[in-house]
Amino acid sequence: MSLMQKRIQFVDLQAQYQTIRADVDVAVAGVLQRGDYILGEDVKKFEEEFAAYCKASHCVSVGNGTEALHLALMACGIGPGDEVITTTHTFIATALAIHQAGAKPVLVDCEPNQYTIDVSKIEAAITPRTKAILPVHLYGQPADMDPILEIARRHKLQVIEDACQAHGAEYKGRRCGTLGDIAAFSFYPGKNLGACGDAGAIVTNRKDLADQVWLLRNYGQKVKNEHLCKAFNTRLDTLQAAVLRVKLRHLESWNEARRRAAAQYDELLASAQVVRPKLAPNATHVYHLYVVRTPNRAKLQAALEAGNVSTGIHYPIPVHLQPAFADLGFSRGSFPVAEAVASEILSLPIFPEITREDLERVATICRQAS
Ligand SMILES: *Cc1c(COP(=O)(O)O)cnc(C)c1O
Repeated sequence: MSLMQKRIQFVDLQAQYQTIRADVDVAVAGVLQRGDYILGEDVKKFEEEFAAYCKASHCVSVGNGTEALHLALMACGIGPGDEVITTTHTFIATALAIHQAGAKPVLVDCEPNQYTIDVSKIEAAITPRTKAILPVHLYGQPADMDPILEIARRHKLQVIEDACQAHGAEYKGRRCGTLGDIAAFSFYPGKNLGACGDAGAIVTNRKDLADQVWLLRNYGQKVKNEHLCKAFNTRLDTLQAAVLRVKLRHLESWNEARRRAAAQYDELLASAQVVRPKLAPNATHVYHLYVVRTPNRAKLQAALEAGNVSTGIHYPIPVHLQPAFADLGFSRGSFPVAEAVASEILSLPIFPEITREDLERVATICRQAS
């Protein structure tokens, strides 16, 4: 008989489904009965409800978070010849969306505490072609938006938030998604608010931008068969919207549960040789990820694996060192902070249903291995 303890998953989506099973099943059955699969009733209602949750005027849903970024950029009028400033320490989709819009991602380093874009490096990256700044609210913690908005105002740039990891996070009491001109959210299954497949949305207080994304996601048509612009087909499935409406009702308590789990990790890891997440002043973190930092990452990750604990690395290769963006011409040493961070970070399991017992098991291994 094996003495191996049960595996602690990185994110346990089955556990979450069990807590809301009856409501999800009814919601899905409702769509199947109505048959309004494309841009149905639940899509419209989810958009209203998610806008209200973000305290924003408009939400337009799309097929996934990458498309939300892509269409947000296009709605802002960004295209070939333009430059968009973003951080090299992010998920690849941030940079891919800029490329998809036809523009060039101009990368800057991250800062060493919250790992979000280093605001002090932004101005030096501005050129006459710069059209926008695209900060990422990484791991569930807002980027330092006030100085970013101030630079943007001074240089007449638009600000597009990558809020794909920051559903419900706040900066100085304001929800992520309402801080810049427009924001992109992902509802990929593992996100704080996740669908049962791909899903995404934009949120904005600017009606002009919402209207433009609304056209771009659905063949550029306002009325059937009249196409006002060269557009895309990237809509949120009604089935996914129905699931998201059920889950949205739990998002606040789920985020609260993530914060409780993070606080327990903070306490349990106080004597471990790892750098714990640092909270920025004036920020409400929603702990999409709980990321620790250690020069002995490989050893720590192996010890956790040996203890049957799943971990992740978000992200091991910064954008500027990805083969896909070799054409930007960077090399090792170009962004030293991001490179050091990428080689030392480790994401520990965190999700609303994680138990105290599991957190203790993870932390014990971290204390022993580090
Ligand atoms: C998840 C994510 C995306 C992309 O969202 P998808 O729905 O997977 O396309 C973009 N940016 C960040 C920071 C993300 O975490």
